[in-house]
Amino acid sequence: MIFKKKKFERRVLIQKEVLDSILSYCQIKHPNEGILILKGKSKNGEIIINGLVIPPFNEMGPTFAGFPNSFLPFDMSYLGIVHSHPNGSAEPSVTDLHNFFGLVSIIVKSPYDDNSIFAWDSNGNKIPLSINDD
Ligand SMILES: [Zn+2]
Repeated sequence: MIFKKKKFERRVLIQKEVLDSILSYCQIKHPNEGILILKGKSKNGEIIINGLVIPPFNEMGPTFAGFPNSFLPFDMSYLGIVHSHPNGSAEPSVTDLHNFFGLVSIIVKSPYDDNSIFAWDSNGNKIPLSINDD
């Protein structure tokens, strides 16, 4: 038997100005974690991030940044969340995976530059991320 597996090439495309906003937000929050909601659209496995929302009722500390998902208004343009790891690791923690929201979780590690940003899926697998610089 032959299985034809259609494999979705998933990737995350982020607008340059959105990336810059994320990086400066994380810098301001340092040494605490910063957290933002990612807005945009997803089509054929491609996740296009073109905006940010500051989450309501967020709590922040050096090791935890979160908000209750139940407080989020239902919005199809919410693709996931981005948060920072001031300790310098870009790997999602167990807590991060338990609190996964949406399609993608982006983690920015210190020192918050263009090479400090990584995208993950709900299983903790890396999703290729490219910057849309137009
Ligand atoms: Zn985390």
